[in-house]
Amino acid sequence: MPTYTSDNKNKVSGTFTFRQGVHPPESKELTERRPIKEIRLESGKTVVIPMSQHLGAPCKPLVEARQEVKAGDVLGSSDAFVSAPVHSPVNGVVKEVSAQPHPSGRKVLSVVITTGQEQPPQQPWQELPDTFDSKNYEPEAIIKAIRDAGIVGMGGAAFPTAVKLVPNPQKPVETVILNGCECEPFLTSDYRLMVEAPEAIVAGLQLALRAAGARNGIIAIENNKPEAISSILPVIKNIDTIRLAICQTKYPQGGERQLIKALLKRNVPTSGLPLDVKVVVINVGTASAITWASLEGRPVTERIVTVTGRGIKEPGNFRVPVGMLLSDLLDICGGLTDDAEKIILGGPMMGVTADNLDIPILKGTSGITVLTTHEVSRIKETACIRCSRCVDHCPVGLVPTRIAHAVKARDLDMAQEYDMMACIECGCCTYICPAQIPLVQYIRSGKTMLRTAKGGVKRK
Ligand code: SF4
Ligand code: SF4
Repeated sequence: MPTYTSDNKNKVSGTFTFRQGVHPPESKELTERRPIKEIRLESGKTVVIPMSQHLGAPCKPLVEARQEVKAGDVLGSSDAFVSAPVHSPVNGVVKEVSAQPHPSGRKVLSVVITTGQEQPPQQPWQELPDTFDSKNYEPEAIIKAIRDAGIVGMGGAAFPTAVKLVPNPQKPVETVILNGCECEPFLTSDYRLMVEAPEAIVAGLQLALRAAGARNGIIAIENNKPEAISSILPVIKNIDTIRLAICQTKYPQGGERQLIKALLKRNVPTSGLPLDVKVVVINVGTASAITWASLEGRPVTERIVTVTGRGIKEPGNFRVPVGMLLSDLLDICGGLTDDAEKIILGGPMMGVTADNLDIPILKGTSGITVLTTHEVSRIKETACIRCSRCVDHCPVGLVPTRIAHAVKARDLDMAQEYDMMACIECGCCTYICPAQIPLVQYIRSGKTMLRTAKGGVKRK
């Protein structure tokens, strides 16, 4: 842990946290010391770019079969305000434009590309030019660069970042929080990015502050990441508008609402957004993407992904082209172990099970976790013993057992009375339940039923 010296004493404050939550085993030791490795795709590989990999309107394809594309070309876009264009990560030829398997479990219209022989050189991602000064970038230009680059929340939410940052006179932004908590067990992609590319991340926060017209920047990091703290501190030393907040290691510390409550003691309304309390939260990967979009007009065609778990032979952190197939990424990691049982997109608390290896890595894919037979619980769901542990640990203050009961009975009115839509799907209730009731799965399916009944209400 860095010491409080005269240089950094005003730069660091802590230790922040929120009420409730859980302490699952961190399991980050598998990859936290593994530096980010570049992945290059060979000629003849398949890359799948879905037209929908963000919240909001899907893109319309702008290319057709047999067309040649270059890395960075726009493959699809939309005129809708809440959307984000998609770009080619490689030089190659469009094989087809068709519905393809998607991490959501559905088939989604996608551009399928076969990689060509000649690929562009890797672009820098760590060090900034010495001349960088965020004041040289006008807010409108930063927003346009973010929009054109197709930047979305890279912590998993995939909400278009330009929409978050575009100034709204009715809802001015006071504070931009850079979320470096990475509280999900196993995952270390944000951690490695903070350790290996602190300048690019801090520059992204400075640019986001300028774009939003905000005065305060806070970088939030959990206290189980001392190397990330040591890496960021010297970079912010002379930046008046940015400070570091050290948070307690607790799940879900990195949830937007929990983070805002912990740092600023503000409550985001149930159906509202952080903007309602004058705050915007961005992920560290998003910040890095903002930097390269603003400095070089670079679109989001790659991201850092952790491939981890005891069911993968060679876990690690990788810089991966968006659109690379999960099967190819697992091969690069040596493949699955004999006792691999479950592949999760994301971490074990909030991730979803992958039922198909021919799905692509998306802009919002922060990790792949492979659990073994031994780790996957085989104990069957039993009756609720009314212990109230799910209630005691819910960070939103819900009564998960009642919501799940209402969903099982298909009583959506009752589920709404218990504030089902306020659930952030963190999974604390499922994790803590001694009766092995998959509470969060019931709640998720209840939300889906409700959206379907209402004709497709957008997810917050
Ligand atoms: S009810 Fe929702 S918010 Fe509460 S613990 Fe369960 S998943 Fe998390
Ligand atoms: S934790 Fe499980 S057993 Fe305990 S009250 Fe909640 S649902 Fe029932």
